[in-house]
Amino acid sequence: MPDAAALPPIRIDLGSDTSTRPSPGMRAAMASAPVGDEQMGEDPTTCALEARVAALLGQEQAMFLPSGTMCNQIALLVHCRPGDEIIAAHQAHIYGSEGAGAAALAGAFVRPIEAPEGIFDGAAVRSALRPLRARAPRSRVVVVEQTANRGGGAVWPLAAVADVADRAHEHGLAVHMDGARLLNAVVASGIAAQSFGRLCDSVWLDLTKGLGCPVGAVLAGPRDFITAAWTWKHRLGGAMRQSGILAAAGLYALDHNIERLAHDHAQARRLADLVVQIPGVTLRFPKVETNIVFIDLADTGCAAPAVLHALRAEGIRLSVEGPHLLRAVTHLDIGAADIAPTADALSAAVRRLSSAD
Ligand SMILES: *Cc1c(COP(=O)(O)O)cnc(C)c1O
Repeated sequence: MPDAAALPPIRIDLGSDTSTRPSPGMRAAMASAPVGDEQMGEDPTTCALEARVAALLGQEQAMFLPSGTMCNQIALLVHCRPGDEIIAAHQAHIYGSEGAGAAALAGAFVRPIEAPEGIFDGAAVRSALRPLRARAPRSRVVVVEQTANRGGGAVWPLAAVADVADRAHEHGLAVHMDGARLLNAVVASGIAAQSFGRLCDSVWLDLTKGLGCPVGAVLAGPRDFITAAWTWKHRLGGAMRQSGILAAAGLYALDHNIERLAHDHAQARRLADLVVQIPGVTLRFPKVETNIVFIDLADTGCAAPAVLHALRAEGIRLSVEGPHLLRAVTHLDIGAADIAPTADALSAAVRRLSSAD
């Protein structure tokens, strides 16, 4: 493996949609933001962002937080007591990518359910429910990840969210939406964020994914939920001071960076259409509804890390998701001109590496 210092700079970064840099317009908005003490409710820019996101998500109130992970963890801390069970798709971020925070912090654990593309229905919730008995864990929350990141960015249809919410609510469970990429789902489906959000007891969106902000996420829910969430925000050290500098980026992104997500989706589709022309390369999730492409190399015989390194040597970054699986994510800093060179480099790497053994 070449050492990092010897590698060329990254020119096409498809590793994650978190790799965006704030644009000049966003930086200008941040620089001129009115600020105050967030913990005292005196930061006008943060308050404006919270009000705007609450309305966008069809909820009463919202709370600005440093990260999406903290949104998930605080929501679980509010919804769960120790020993409670959380129902989520087996590839969900809260299950595999948050340091087992549900267990470590809330004392709750995740019951992963098999769900192709990370999407399930009310019947799956019903069959995962525990009977009400002393020896059984209490089923407490269902998590809907919109879009489903490790489901290839699949969009939960509104009817599926409604079905899951009906079953959950019928049995006294809360519905939490991990909306890291909810706005990608909104743009791809044409369905308003509110329509998804109001079915949920808590819902958040990430500012640092497709929206292109440097920091932040916003968690929304009913007034009582947000009041309880504030205690955890303080406990976890997520309460801030002049956070308007950061919230201004969020407001700017909501004004400028939502509709353009359609461009990211189109580029992901183009990349998908090009890579499947490479012999042996297939798509793990052929639909490619949003900005995520899972590239399956199994039939080429190439190992994903080897291909990753070959691309990295060309200044192109993807991420490894399995022994033969790569992920490419499009975003604000990926232009139409970046797609064909990526597919060409992948084609050359696969050709070279599959003939090498
Ligand atoms: C990125 C992501 C998170 C966590 O968000 P951070 O802002 O990186 O903490 C949670 N859920 C999903 C689906 C994500 O993609």
